[in-house]
Amino acid sequence: MSTCTECGADVAVHDDAEAGEILDCGTCGTELEVVDTAPPTLERAPDLAEDWGE
Ligand SMILES: [Zn+2]
Repeated sequence: MSTCTECGADVAVHDDAEAGEILDCGTCGTELEVVDTAPPTLERAPDLAEDWGE
């Protein structure tokens, strides 16, 4: 279990989650990237919109 950085809700992180995995917050819908697994740490995922890199 970890915490959404956007809304503070608990977000379930399964035991075999790997760094770089993207999870959705079930409360606010923000995409969260697993940046560490011990302990599970989430950050807001980079915006992969079409203008990425432009
Ligand atoms: Zn959230």
